[in-house]
Amino acid sequence: MAEVRVNLANHSYTIHIMAGIISQVGQLMKDMPLSRKALIVTDENVAPLYSGVLADSLAAAGFLPFVLVVPPGESSKSLATADKVFTQAISMGLDRKSPIIALGGGVIGDLSGFVAATYLRGVPFIQVPTTLLAQVDSSVGGKTAVNHPLGKNLIGAFYQPQLVVIDPLVLDTLPERELKAGLAEVVKYGVIADYDFFDYLIRHQEDILARRPDELIEVISRCCQIKAAVVAQDERETSLRMILNFGHTIGHAVEGVGGYSEYNHGEAVAIGMHGAALLSSSLHLCSTAASAAVKQLITGMGLPLTAPGYGTDELLGYLARDKKVVDSKVNWVLMQDVGRVTITQDVSEEHVRAVLSQ
Ligand code: ADP
Ligand code: ZN
Repeated sequence: MAEVRVNLANHSYTIHIMAGIISQVGQLMKDMPLSRKALIVTDENVAPLYSGVLADSLAAAGFLPFVLVVPPGESSKSLATADKVFTQAISMGLDRKSPIIALGGGVIGDLSGFVAATYLRGVPFIQVPTTLLAQVDSSVGGKTAVNHPLGKNLIGAFYQPQLVVIDPLVLDTLPERELKAGLAEVVKYGVIADYDFFDYLIRHQEDILARRPDELIEVISRCCQIKAAVVAQDERETSLRMILNFGHTIGHAVEGVGGYSEYNHGEAVAIGMHGAALLSSSLHLCSTAASAAVKQLITGMGLPLTAPGYGTDELLGYLARDKKVVDSKVNWVLMQDVGRVTITQDVSEEHVRAVLSQ
């Protein structure tokens, strides 16, 4: 059992990480000031696997759970799907203390969090993330959003959960490609903040890929600790929190050029981290040994390094449009060493071009 306490300016909560803990969510909720009716939001893939055990655990603790199932995939991160969740919440009479529980990956977390943030101006939100990506990334930090036809994540709010429950055993059913996508963010945490953790990942990559619970618990809790520490210092992403975007500058461009379908988020971030590492060493911010170590771990985790066939000009076009661009300058998160990064706008287009065309 591992617990990570997330301490924010106006709110604290605990992330519980343990094998099999999904059957104890009701128990964990029992001492919280909650109404009995609870809305579990999940998707069509996750529902048949885990909604029964979760709903049973709530019922055993005296709650009255209802399970709302939405289609899987990014298309459910929409105002139209949010409207279905609002309709369910209103028609079942959820009040200000009724919890909304996200059971699923990042899509379900972002969608349900957005509804929890806005229904009755905010109701208790509980996360039970079921993808590695959601467990190490979106369950800490409080970003919730739905997409608009004109852009991703444009409509949302910062909204913190009351409780996060992470069961590494649910990853057993996760498709291989989704597991690896989550590992890209895991590698990112090592690079931005923790040499020892990076080293742990190198030594245990086979156990992690084999989904051994002990190693997964170690990985998930380290990532949540690192993210919690960063977010605690910069809740609204004004400065330090930008380091979490390591690999995401080029990554978002790769996702954009591929029409958000060829590479998933984690794969695009892996390509972006490799690019950022190369950029860092070509600017002499870090050694070539440091950038080679990042390359080696990305490969070891079964992730891609480059996007063959992607045009440099097209990628550069997307870089300029990234949401994180301030005053038309790209904020690059670059490596000084494994475990240490810096943020700079001082990168010439020639250097970026040289890296993107490799
Ligand atoms: P992410 O967390 O990567 O942002 P999604 O919410 O889109 O993404 O989840 C990725 C896919 O994995 C979806 O098709 C979802 O239904 C499926 N999924 C989520 N969790 C599990 C699980 N534990 N086992 C099997 N499939 C899962
Ligand atoms: Zn990411």
